[in-house]
Amino acid sequence: MENKITGTTRLTALFATPIRHSISPLIHNASFQKLGIDAVYLAFEVGKDKLPRAIESIRTLDMLGANLSMPNKQSAIEWMDELSDASRLIGAVNTIVNENGKLTGHITDGTGFMHNLQDNGIRVIGQKITIIGAGGAATAIIVQAALDGVKEISVFNLKDDFYTMIEKKLQEIETQTHCKISLYDLADQEKLESEISDSVLLVNATGVGMKPLEGQIPIKNLTKILRADLAVADVIYNPRETELLKQARLIGCKTTNGLGMLLYQGAAAFELWTGQKMPVAEIKPIILEA
Ligand code: NAD
Repeated sequence: MENKITGTTRLTALFATPIRHSISPLIHNASFQKLGIDAVYLAFEVGKDKLPRAIESIRTLDMLGANLSMPNKQSAIEWMDELSDASRLIGAVNTIVNENGKLTGHITDGTGFMHNLQDNGIRVIGQKITIIGAGGAATAIIVQAALDGVKEISVFNLKDDFYTMIEKKLQEIETQTHCKISLYDLADQEKLESEISDSVLLVNATGVGMKPLEGQIPIKNLTKILRADLAVADVIYNPRETELLKQARLIGCKTTNGLGMLLYQGAAAFELWTGQKMPVAEIKPIILEA
C-alpha cells in the first residue's frame, strides 16, 4: 500500500544526536506504509540544548509523539506530564505519547530486549542472568528483566561514575521487584567467572565492541568463561556480530545482537502511538538489508 502525505498526515519523530545513522525512520515509515496509517516518522538532530523546544513542538504541531535517544533520554524526564512505571524506575524516556497535549514518557528498550530474547528462544524467567554495564541500556534491561520475573541479576561494571550512580538505583529496583540484584567490579575476574557459571544468559550492555572499540570484548579470559549452554546477547547492532558474539558462536552458544532489541523497542513505541501492532515479520527483512 502506498500512503500519500496529505493535510491530515500526522508526524512522529526521533530527537537525538548524532542521528543520521538511525534506522528507526526506516522501521516506522515502512510500518505506517504497510498498515496504511496516515503518519510519517522523521529524524531531527536535537541535543540537550534544543530538547525543551523540541518537546514543546510535540504539543504545538499536534504530533502523535516522539522517540528520544542519546543524549536526551534522562533529561526529558522533567518535561513529561506523566511517566510509565518503568520510566520512573529507570529515570529515562525513549518514547513520548501525546494525548491532546498531555505528554506521557515511556521506556521501551527493556521490553524490546526481553521480547527479542523470547523471539530467539532464550528463556530467562525464574533464572539468573549476568549483565556487563550499568548505563542507560543496562538499567532498562535490568528493570524490565526484574519486572518480568528474572530471579537474580549480577551486574558488572568498571568502577566509574556509572558504578556509583547505579548502586542506589539497583537497591531500589530490588526492593520494588523482589529480584535479587548484585553489583560487582568488572575487574574482579574471579567473581565474574563464578557469577556467569550459574547464569543462563550473559549480556553486553556497553559500547565495547562497536566503534571506536570495535573488535574489543568487555571481559577477559572469555574462552574460559563461555560454555555452550550459556546464551550471549549484545545490545550492539553495528557491527551485526561483535567479537564477543563471534567467540560465543564459535563455542556453540546461542547468540543475539542488538537489532532485535531495536526492532521491538520500536514496535512497542509504534503500538503506543497507533494502537496497532507493528508488522514485525515484514519489517525484519527490511532492517537486515539496511
Ligand atoms: P551509557 O553511556 O549510558 O553507558 C555506557 C556503559 O558502558 C557504562 O556502564 C560504562 O561503565 C560502560 N563502559 C564504557 N567504556 C567501557 C569499557 N572500556 N569497558 C567496559 N565498560 C565500559 O550508554 P548506553 O546508552 O547504555 O549504551 C550502551 C550501548 O548500548 C551502546 O552501544 C548503544 O548503542 C547500545 N544501545 C542499543 C540499543 C538497542 O536497541 N539495541 C538501545 C540502547 C543502547
